Amino acid sequence: MDAADRERLLGLLRDVVGAPYAFADPYEVRLYQYDASPETALPDIVVIPATAKEVAQVVKICADARVPVTARSAASSLAGGTVPVEGGVVLTFARMDRILEIDIENLRAVVQPGVVNLALSQALKPHGYYYVPDPSSQGACTIGGNVGTNAGGPHTLLYGVTVNHVTGLEVALASGELVQVGGRNAAEATGYDLTGLLVGSEGTLGVVTRIWVKIQPLPPVQKTLMAVYPDVATASNAVSAIVRTGILPAAIEMMDKLSIQAIEAASHAGYPLDAGAVLLLEVDGTQEVADECGERMARVCRDNGASEVRVARNEAERQALWKGRKGAFSAMGRLSPDFYVMDGVVPRTKLPETLAKIDAISARTGFKICNVFHAGDGNVHPLVLFDAFQPGQYESVLRIGDEILRLCADAGGSVTGEHGIGLEKRENIRYVFSDDDLEVMDHIRRVFDPHGLMNPGKVFPGEALKPSAPRYPPGYRPGTTAALGAREDLWV
Ligand SMILES: Cc1cc2nc3c(=O)[nH]c(=O)nc-3n(C[C@H](O)[C@H](O)[C@H](O)COP(=O)(O)OP(=O)(O)OC[C@H]3O[C@@H](n4cnc5c(N)ncnc54)[C@H](O)[C@@H]3O)c2cc1C
Repeated sequence: MDAADRERLLGLLRDVVGAPYAFADPYEVRLYQYDASPETALPDIVVIPATAKEVAQVVKICADARVPVTARSAASSLAGGTVPVEGGVVLTFARMDRILEIDIENLRAVVQPGVVNLALSQALKPHGYYYVPDPSSQGACTIGGNVGTNAGGPHTLLYGVTVNHVTGLEVALASGELVQVGGRNAAEATGYDLTGLLVGSEGTLGVVTRIWVKIQPLPPVQKTLMAVYPDVATASNAVSAIVRTGILPAAIEMMDKLSIQAIEAASHAGYPLDAGAVLLLEVDGTQEVADECGERMARVCRDNGASEVRVARNEAERQALWKGRKGAFSAMGRLSPDFYVMDGVVPRTKLPETLAKIDAISARTGFKICNVFHAGDGNVHPLVLFDAFQPGQYESVLRIGDEILRLCADAGGSVTGEHGIGLEKRENIRYVFSDDDLEVMDHIRRVFDPHGLMNPGKVFPGEALKPSAPRYPPGYRPGTTAALGAREDLWV
């Protein structure tokens, strides 16, 4: 966009949101060039609307000017979902962060997109309720972003992902219309499931301005166990054994030896440093159910190679175990300046062979790979440790990521379990969808967005990523959230 076009557009956008909330200053827009993935690209203009109506007007102005619009909530995307690769306007929701309604009788809440995931559960807690989807980033990520990616989390095993908890959306379409799909009562929905279509569409079909979600009572008891294993293969087999018993835990998370070292160094949660792997298991229910299932799970864990099974004795111990698990990605800063995280899925029974293959990749390439993941779902998160300041390492980890996703797809799985396709995996999507599949999806996209302006460059295959392309500002190297927090020197 040339300077004159930018000024003209900025003027129009400022008329809608007010001068302080639309800006194009090169220094200020630089703060919106990144998310939690290693990719970056500068927007031309950043807009911070206060209302749904303003969002719709902004989208319409951009459509008329044929300028791309990228929705950006907390920017914790690990797939480059918010990186404005084609420039244009970044829309962000810091001023749309209100819980609009808590409706206990109907088990619903209505929120604006900028509400932080954990803030909703905190607001519900005094009523004895919570919002179930709990990505490990829940202290930062927003419900708008969760809708964008169809976020999961540790408890998806029992409760499902975001789409299973959203009953309606208000959306600003590329045409500038504000429409509602679904609503308070999903059971009323007839016809096409447009809410289901929009959840997980990564900002490519419209901008979400209001969300109706299910809420549910807090479980009377949440029993959390940690089972200690000599290696990941034994732990993986135990996961299948637990599921075979017919018990469906709320969560089964796995951490390998390297992850345990990092987590323990960062959080002192009580993870055993000599373990080859641990499983974190949780069962929800009444005291009786939790006790009975907990005991059965502990027995299965022991029968399947656990050297020790510890039960959290109180809420403080339970919280400490979860704090360790949920802080695992940021704990990687203890091991390495940077990491590159993958998000593949494999059938649960393929976990042992998949983890062995990932181990072999690590041995062959010399890059350490940690595994901390949602084992119950077969949703692996290999974290490839590297140093972006070492020439060639970033390019190597991109190749390793590609290889890992290929092997997940070949195992009958998928190239994303919860982080979305975004920018990072738009080529990898070909491992699970044929050209015909992609064409059908593209037709749908064009119905919503005929000019391809909503978060362009995402989800669909495009130009391959070029890590050395000059879109990084001078002095900036790819980094990660953990590294960015610790290394101010990355910023110019
Ligand atoms: C340490 C760490 C742990 C994580 N753990 C998990 C986990 O356990 N499970 C999980 O699923 N993810 C996890 N993530 C990834 C990330 O937190 C999720 O993808 C989350 O849903 C993104 O929310 P956000 O508010 O940051 O959205 P953003 O990153 O801002 O946006 C994500 C996507 O949604 C789109 N979007 C944002 N807002 C809107 C809107 N209003 N309308 C339409 N589209 C929109 C964006 O364009 C983008 O494509 C983790 C990330 C980190 C850094």
